[in-house]
Amino acid sequence: MKAAFLGLGAIGQPMAARLATKAQLAVWNRTRSRADAFARDHGARPAATPRQAAEGAEVVVTCLPTSAEVEQLLDGPEGLEAGLATGALMLDCTSGDPATSRRIQSRLAKRGIAFADCPVSGGTSGAEAGTLTVMVGGDEATFARARPVLEAFGRRIEHMGPVGAGHAMKAVNNALLAVNLEVFGEGFAALVKAGVPARKAVEVLNASSGRSFVSEALVPDRVLTGRWPQTFRLALLEKDVRIALGLLDETGVRGPVLHLVGELFREARATLGENADHVEVVRLIEQDAGVEIRG
Ligand code: NDP
Repeated sequence: MKAAFLGLGAIGQPMAARLATKAQLAVWNRTRSRADAFARDHGARPAATPRQAAEGAEVVVTCLPTSAEVEQLLDGPEGLEAGLATGALMLDCTSGDPATSRRIQSRLAKRGIAFADCPVSGGTSGAEAGTLTVMVGGDEATFARARPVLEAFGRRIEHMGPVGAGHAMKAVNNALLAVNLEVFGEGFAALVKAGVPARKAVEVLNASSGRSFVSEALVPDRVLTGRWPQTFRLALLEKDVRIALGLLDETGVRGPVLHLVGELFREARATLGENADHVEVVRLIEQDAGVEIRG
């Protein structure tokens, strides 16, 4: 298979590394040095422009911060669309928004190019291990073509519905991640101030009905240890909550809780900046409460 991967960021890079073991891969990245280094390490072809990456590829995979960057990538004489051949398949693994993806799909369909939104969950470690969950939006035929490609980095690959349905699923998943981080931080700041040892409280929570990925994985690894690795930028999670709020608006569902969480993440993004990790939102709650949740 001839494939191209565009966007070698925190999660794009390990996903591309797995695809490079299954396909003859061309890579493009905005910062060229990252593509060159990747190509050296994984035997891929570095491309100077999105167009050059797409030329000759049966499948192209994109993984950029938002759908806006994906749409822009298509434009211009050196853009992605200029390099895509009729009959090619574009899989967007960005956690993007449904409306932009629907626009991209109808634009590409005019040239006989298939498109599916394929956001992923499982973090950078899941990408390295090839155990991501992939949520696909597209028609049945496109899903069938996409599956063997997505198997390079995904374990559970699910067809969620038409284009946009993958993004909608991903946004709601990440809205829950955001809510869990906030409520964990608030509740546990209070528990520690009330004299309950943090580690014991986490163990009890994880044997009880309030447990979540936050309490089972992120808290023991990061909050209790005071280690804050940068794997998933808080700015990206703030964007995901905004996409989920857009979905609520579109479908006429009131979202008082999610609106508040969106506001808190906007503030956290403004305070901590573009490069802070998502779990660092707990540090802000700790600072505000004057306590640390360690154990
Ligand atoms: P990063 O911020 O680490 O990387 C972003 C990538 O996009 C980089 O390759 C960057 O290039 C490129 N980029 C940024 N702006 C532009 C632009 N204007 N034009 C072209 N390329 C651009 O993000 P992640 O890899 O963490 O995330 C990518 C997507 O995957 C996001 O939608 C995110 O929400 C989602 N995701 C991330 C997860 C994670 O654990 N990190 C988990 C699940 C989903 P450059 O090198 O030049 O900066």
